[in-house]
Amino acid sequence: MTRIRLWLTAATVLLASCGNSGAPASDSSKSVVESGDKPQVAGVLNVYSARHYDSDKEMYKQFETETGIKVRFRESGAPELLETMKAEGDASPADVVISSDAGTLYRFEAAGLLQPLQDATLDEKIPEHFRQADGYWYGLARRVRVIAYDPERVTPDEVAHYSDLASPRFKGEVCMRSSTNIYNLSLMGELIGRMGHDAAQAWANGVVANFARPPQGGDITQIEAIAAGECSVALTNHYYYVRLATGSPSEQATAAKVKLSFPEQDTTGTHVNVTGAGVAAHAPHRDNAVKFIEWLASVDGQTWLTGATKEYPMVAGVALPEGLDKLPDFKKSDFPLDELGTHQSEAQEVYDTAGWN
Ligand code: FE
Repeated sequence: MTRIRLWLTAATVLLASCGNSGAPASDSSKSVVESGDKPQVAGVLNVYSARHYDSDKEMYKQFETETGIKVRFRESGAPELLETMKAEGDASPADVVISSDAGTLYRFEAAGLLQPLQDATLDEKIPEHFRQADGYWYGLARRVRVIAYDPERVTPDEVAHYSDLASPRFKGEVCMRSSTNIYNLSLMGELIGRMGHDAAQAWANGVVANFARPPQGGDITQIEAIAAGECSVALTNHYYYVRLATGSPSEQATAAKVKLSFPEQDTTGTHVNVTGAGVAAHAPHRDNAVKFIEWLASVDGQTWLTGATKEYPMVAGVALPEGLDKLPDFKKSDFPLDELGTHQSEAQEVYDTAGWN
């Protein structure tokens, strides 16, 4: 398969020319992605995204409409995107990398695949702990790792803290996904940063001792297991629950059997992570990459980014996606997200030691 066939084009028609980037965009993606050298085609943006939502395709179209910059995108799992960019080296056509979880963004940063961006607009809109200190990536939407529980078997005060999941109270009642999942690694990164290695290890050991079954599935699998009575508590990112609660009748029926606890309200606040973006290290269209990331932080960009995914908008003044208004206001952790990456290998060691596969 040639490289060109790996690309999808957000729209076949260039709707307007870009005011700031000089020459009009070429309609021929072929010249950009097959040449192997660094193309200098103005009015084009190549997005590498680890997300996979139809709404993102609409979002790219909207950006095209508003700016005249033609968007090409490549969607793949984060590990595949990372390996692709490594293989492409400085000939990579990638301008922007979008990925979920600060722990994943760290992996791109650590592999030398991003470049720093000092952007006053973004620095003003995005709180410091939600962006990489040197500007390698910016958090653009927020997701919260919460405790899902069966309200018929568990009271809210029994799941007010992450530490409760390690309590003998929940012996045989905890469902979890694999520890290699980045969401669990990032939560452990914060726990290590907050409590230190030994306490974090004790927590992991306690949770494993409570497992109802070996780790399996994704976050939705855990919510479904609670609804089915297989376990009474689990960790999930909030948006999976909200998608079920706003989904088909059977999905709504599943969500109706489960409630969410936002842990650590009386301590440091619930673990918050991000979907974020950074400028690719060898971006052929750096100006457009910056423009796109700034647009993602605009009211329009934020609405497109979070409307269907049910993430929380990053920027103040943006309306909440449908369904999020049903969740309570809650205290959010301000743990610096770029520390999640630096704790990542230690986090995996802790889980491995605990026997959390
Ligand atoms: Fe997810």
